[in-house]
Amino acid sequence: MVVGVHRPTKLVIDRQALRENIHTAVSRLAPGCELFMVVKANGYGHGAIQVAQAAKDAGATGFCVAILDEALELRAAGFNEPILVLGVGDPADAPLMAEKRISATVAAQDWLTEAHQYLALAHVTAPLQVHLGLDTGMGRIGFKTSSSLQTAVAYLNAHADLNFEGIFTHFSTADSSDDHYFKQQVATWKALTSKLTRLPRYVHVSNSATSLWHAECNDNMVRFGVAGYGLNPSGTEVAAPYTLHPAMRLVSELVHVKRVVAGESVGYGATYTAQQPEWVGTVPIGYADGYERRLQGFHVLIDGQPCEIIGRVCMDQLMVRLPREFARGTRVTLVGRDGDESISLQDVADYCGTIHYEIACGFTARLPRVYEN
Ligand SMILES: *Cc1c(COP(=O)(O)O)cnc(C)c1O
Repeated sequence: MVVGVHRPTKLVIDRQALRENIHTAVSRLAPGCELFMVVKANGYGHGAIQVAQAAKDAGATGFCVAILDEALELRAAGFNEPILVLGVGDPADAPLMAEKRISATVAAQDWLTEAHQYLALAHVTAPLQVHLGLDTGMGRIGFKTSSSLQTAVAYLNAHADLNFEGIFTHFSTADSSDDHYFKQQVATWKALTSKLTRLPRYVHVSNSATSLWHAECNDNMVRFGVAGYGLNPSGTEVAAPYTLHPAMRLVSELVHVKRVVAGESVGYGATYTAQQPEWVGTVPIGYADGYERRLQGFHVLIDGQPCEIIGRVCMDQLMVRLPREFARGTRVTLVGRDGDESISLQDVADYCGTIHYEIACGFTARLPRVYEN
């Protein structure tokens, strides 16, 4: 996909905000506990390479991604830190992962057996680094019983081309003010892991929410994601214990300004009709950029004032009602601060009926990512 560099619409990423969020998180960890920055989905839309560098500068000692290609992107960019792929990959890629020292999440015995067959055929010199995932209640991936876990550990110990590097689980409600399900998952995790005679190098359970609100559970590594980007994992449900600095802004400019008279309509479907003479501006962004069509009726900031999005959001453009005439080229803030007003990703997500995670990683490749600080 092309990147729209000849258009004033861009995501501005504040590296200082990233570093501050991550540095604060690192400084709160117990001695010996490491922070792996989660940079999946192009660093939650912020740009994986830039985020990884900021995280490294702020004290992160490793990275987590969702898929192998994201790990390869980091290796190609020269990052030599440990990288864990959190999703279940293809056992046929085990040799490539071993060669690149990219750690695999393993969720079932048959995967291990198959990966071992591929490793044996490929004659790779380095072992595949394996993190066993435990399903303690997330219901997504992982071993659920003590016996299946014991079998996998025995298999790892018996095969030199596999190294038992980590064990982990993932909580589904760590961002909730109600901790009863969280406690149940902790109990299941403890029951499963307490039966192991040897723990691997990395023992980890914490996402951002767990590290913010249940830091006593951290073990020796945290998988730090959304809070590193300055976003509260709970949305607005639970206050963060320290200030998070949102790192992403979305800005554009007015590319067209006109006067409409009463009775004139705006946008597809003619869903908006001016009741009186009005100034209308056009902004070059639309749902093809990940600025959702559902945002009709929401607002942007111009000259420090909220301006309503009128008419349907088009694929590449949207229209806003202006309080007065503005010059073409006037700055438009879709996410971020302008004067006394600000729009957060949370505000956008609330309006769309979703979470800020989805908005941030929904911004498409057509939007340039520009880095400041
Ligand atoms: C995405 C993910 C994380 C990071 O979650 P945040 O809420 O962004 O901190 C951690 N662990 C796993 C397994 C994940 O999939």
